[in-house]
Order: sequence, then structure tokens, then C-alpha cells
Amino acid sequence: MECEGSVKSALCVQTILSSAAHAALFYFLRPMVQIKLPDGSLREFPGPVTVAEVAASIGVGLAKAALGGKVNGQLVDASFSMASNADLAIVTAKDPEGLELIRHSTAHLLAYAVKNLFPEAQVTIGPVIDNGFYYDFSYSRPFTPEDLVAIEKRMTELAAKDEPVLRRVLPRDEAVAYFKSMGENYKAEIIGSIPADQEVSLYREGDFEDLCRGPHVPSTGKLKHFKLMKVAGAYWRGDSKNEMLQRVYGTAWASKEDLQLYLTRLEEAEKRDHRKLGRELDLFHIDEHAPGLVFWHPKGWTVWQTVEQYMRQVYRDSGYQEVKGPQILDKSLWEKTGHWDKYRDNMFTTESEKRDYALKPMNCPGHILIFKQGIKSYRDLPLRYGEFGQCHRNEPSGGLHGIMRVRGFTQDDGHIFCTENQILPECDTFTKVLKKVYADFGFTDILYKVSTRPAARIGSDELWDKAEKALMDSLRDSGCEFVISEGDGAFYGPKIEYTLKDAIGREWQCGTIQVDFNLSERLDAEYVAEDGSRQRPVILHRAIVGSMERFIGILVEQHAGALPTWLAPIQVSVLNITDAQSDYCREIAAKLQKSVSNQGLRVDLDLRNEKITYKIREHSLQKLPYILVAGDKEKAAGTVAVRARGNKDLGVMSIDAFIELIAADIASKA
Ligand code: ZN
Repeated sequence: MECEGSVKSALCVQTILSSAAHAALFYFLRPMVQIKLPDGSLREFPGPVTVAEVAASIGVGLAKAALGGKVNGQLVDASFSMASNADLAIVTAKDPEGLELIRHSTAHLLAYAVKNLFPEAQVTIGPVIDNGFYYDFSYSRPFTPEDLVAIEKRMTELAAKDEPVLRRVLPRDEAVAYFKSMGENYKAEIIGSIPADQEVSLYREGDFEDLCRGPHVPSTGKLKHFKLMKVAGAYWRGDSKNEMLQRVYGTAWASKEDLQLYLTRLEEAEKRDHRKLGRELDLFHIDEHAPGLVFWHPKGWTVWQTVEQYMRQVYRDSGYQEVKGPQILDKSLWEKTGHWDKYRDNMFTTESEKRDYALKPMNCPGHILIFKQGIKSYRDLPLRYGEFGQCHRNEPSGGLHGIMRVRGFTQDDGHIFCTENQILPECDTFTKVLKKVYADFGFTDILYKVSTRPAARIGSDELWDKAEKALMDSLRDSGCEFVISEGDGAFYGPKIEYTLKDAIGREWQCGTIQVDFNLSERLDAEYVAEDGSRQRPVILHRAIVGSMERFIGILVEQHAGALPTWLAPIQVSVLNITDAQSDYCREIAAKLQKSVSNQGLRVDLDLRNEKITYKIREHSLQKLPYILVAGDKEKAAGTVAVRARGNKDLGVMSIDAFIELIAADIASKA
């Protein structure tokens, strides 16, 4: 039931509702509509009935909170009318879809405010993005930070008026003509590019009307917790040949607390940004000569080495043999794996003597070629190869981010060649090892997700049943609560994904174990079974930290640069007060370098002729775990004054006492 104009449509409904007699008569004429709610309960209404009316029939609170509905799984406006039986879930700000409605509607509110303040500005598009939205405007000059403040203020004023958000539908050509008459050439162009026989929906609030598929919140009063974040240039349709538009970014939330939490987290994330800390702590840099590839400086590489040595020990302790495959492999191999066909644009290729090659985007084929050397028997299984495998993937430059999203990265990769019956014990062990590793790096909050069979897949249902059960049982065995992502597995097998939560609540998917029924077939890997027959091994792809580069980036942000002593590139700095203690400090440093297990401590010696307060301050800013200071008194007594990170004065102690202290700190990995 669409009236011609949205205002008129609202009037129709009001007239019907205000006349009780009319409504009673109508009641008998209207066919009954059965609405099924998420709890399974049924409600009957004389149809058609809107989402808002159903909400009102349940309670006043819900009527107020309703932002829209999900009718038979589809997100709709609260004014959406159901003429026949339907499944309905009322959507409020507590639902993810509700938040989406809020953000999308706040983008419209932004456009409304901009048109209000800058009538000559033209509107273009305004989608929802992670945590918020943006809207692109065409205007004669860039918006300033002061403009943003004014726009946000106007948005608040307009929201306070609580104007209804009304929908109407127009044939395409009428809509084009309408927006042209309003001087909105971009909107007219967008609508002009859709098929001529289609209708488009428009949403109006106050005197602002925008093209939109919707749905939206019922009125602007539902929009309370938003903030404009920044303005940036953006080309119309993303094409640098087109006009530069003004893109205004904003964030919007269901509650004041959520908004505040987000802003605090953002501030915290900025302070912890690994690119900033990487520069300040002299860990690494990215150079314009190698976009998306990392130059590790001595200190950063020390962190890397520490992580790598630790992970190498994990390989050893859990029965892996470390291997190393070549970096560049012939095209024919990538044809067999299917990469050349589907993934070629993401591979760096090269040629030599009229043969095509690709830099490996993954390590699996290399491990399979190693497996295929010599005959393997069931007695060799499970056979586990591990590699710190360097991979290259040609990601678009726009998606690169510090050392978190790069073009060259190193995986703590591993492949387990096993039988179907060995999937469960292997996954069991893997999850246990992974939990220990994450805990050692300071992450104890882990999310587990099992992705199951997709519609298009290879392998029998029995095989999938067995593999999915093995993955889930392995998590249950470790006491891990998990979610199931139905149909999200690869066509060649199910997987577990391990996501860690960092100190400020962000989630990072790092680990995975993935069952593969396919690759040994493609690359013709086999083993001799107990009965003498030739069988394909199941391959498990697994990684714990994932990308070493990204994981170190996460570590830097997790600890805000103050890496725990066992990971810190420099663990202790020895400072003299005057030249008179230089030799004494050298002795201390030499002793520390040889102490604590066979690796020794990572020591820095600062004998510069600077004020001691200046030197202490400088090393504190470098977030060093310990600073040792020796003056004449300490030299005479054979002691040092010890300062721990965070300006903690631990007093004067003997060198041996300090070694004991730092050794315990390192061992605890705290
Ligand atoms: Zn693999």
C-alpha cells in the first residue's frame, strides 16, 4: 500500500487509527495476519500490520526502542507493512542490525545538516563502514575542522526535533527529474545508471530527501550518540580523473557509553600505533623503494629473532621437523595447485630462460614436494614439517598498513601429513600448544571458530562428518567454547580459526588449523598403507602466530612498546655517573652479557659524558626494562642502583642479586 507522497501516506495511517469506529469496521474486513516472533510465539492481527504496530502490541518500551524489523530474514523499516503471515524480529539498538540502521541514518542526518548549512553543497553517497559511516559532498572548497564542529552541532539540533523519516517510491525517470530539479546532479547520475524500468526509494526527514535503499530509523530522535571524526578528499566514483569530493567521516553508537568506549579505544590505539612506536623505538621502517615490505633495524630484528627462536622451540617440542623450501617456483606447479588460474594477479611473477615463475604466496606445495621424496609409509605418519616460510602476495597498495598488512611476510607455517584417524589427536595437541604460546606472549582471551562444509565441496559426507567432529572434539577436549560458522569452510575441508583479543579489546585472527582433502590429490602425494595399498594423506595446514610481521606489530601495540623483558630488544642499560666508573660499568656489562642461560642478557652500555638524569630519561623513553646506574659508592661496594621500567626505584644491590632478579623476570615471561 503505497500512497503517492510520503506525507500523505502518514496521514492515511493516522486517519485510520484516529477513527475507532472506522478501525473496528476495518478489523472485520481485513484478513488476519499471523506474526511469528523469535521466541516462537504467534500473534494475530487484522492485516496488513506494520512492524511498529506489532512492537506496540507487545509493550510501550519495545515500541519506543523499535528501530526497524527483520521480516522473514530481511531488514525493513519500522513502518514496513506485512499483509500476510510472516516471521518477525523487532530490531532495536541492541542488535547489530540496529546499530547498522543507526549508522546509516546518521549518515543521512549528516547530509541533512550539510544541506542546511551549505545549501550549494551537493550530496553523493554515504555508506556505513566499520564503527561508523561517511558521506561524500561536492562543494566549492574543502570543509574545515570548524565546519565539522558546526555540522555536528546542527546534526544534534536536527536530531532533537525528532522528525519522522519517511519513505516513498518513485519510477526511475521521475526520480532523476526530481533530483535534477533540486540541483543534485550526482544523485541524478547515480539513479540514471540503474535500469529504466526500476523504481527507487527516497527517504525524507524535514525538508531533506535522499535517494536510499533503506531501511532507516523511524525518526531522527533515535540518533543521539554520534561524532564527526575527520574530513578527507575523495574522488567521485574513486577515479582520480573526476572531481575531488569532501568525505566526512563519523561514528555512531547505540549508547553514550558505547560511544565513549570507542573514542577512548581510538585514542589508546593511536598511542599504541606500531608504526609510530616502530619509529620511536627504532625497530623497523617501510621504504618507498619496497612498498609493503619491511626493513628490520637491529632492535626490531632482535625481537623477531626472539619470537622465532621461541617458535622454533615450539616446533621441536611438538614433533615438527623444520624445513626450508625455495622462494621462486615454476609456473607449472602453481597450475597444478590452481593458483595460476585463480590467484595470478596476487602473485609476483618473473621469468628466466623462457620459463615463467612465481614468488611463492604460500609454503604448502614446497612441503608436499619434500614429502614426495622417497616412499612414505603409514609408519611415517603423522609427519610434521615446520617452516618460517617467507611468502609474497601482491596486495593493492591502498590496503597496506605498516607491518600489519604487507606484501612480504613470514608464516610460522606447518603441514601435518596424516590419516583421517589422526586428525583428532593432531588438532588436540595443536590447540593445547597454541593456548600455551598465546599465554606466553600475554594473550589469554582467545575466540574459537569452526568453519564447516560449504555447498560446493569435494570429499564424501562421511569424511566431512569425521573431520568436523574431530575439530569440534579437539576444542571440547581443551575446554574451549567455540562458535560454528556454518558453510564457511573451504571447498577442500573444514577449519578452526583462533582469534586473540588484545589489551584494548581489538580482535586479531592469528592461528588456524585447516583440514585439506584436496592438495595431496592435486600434487599426487601418497603413502603406503598397512594393507600395502597407496593412499592419499590428509594434510593439515596450521599456523600459530600467522604472519611474524603482523604478530610483532600486534605485540608492539599490545604492550604499547614496553615489551616484556624476555622480548625486549635491549633488556638492561648500564650507566656511569662520571668517567671514574667507566671500567666498572664495562665489567658489569660484560658479566651480564654472559649471564642468564646460554644466550646472555641483551645489554647496552651508556658511558656518554652526559648528565645522569638526562641519560636515565632517554633510556626510560626507550621503554627499557632495567637501567643500572653506578657511581663511586656503587663502584666501591661492588653494587649497582637498579631502576625498573615505569620509574620504579628497586634500590642498590649486588650484580649477582640483579642477575637473579632479571633471570626470574625473563623466565616468568611476565
Ligand atoms: Zn598450507
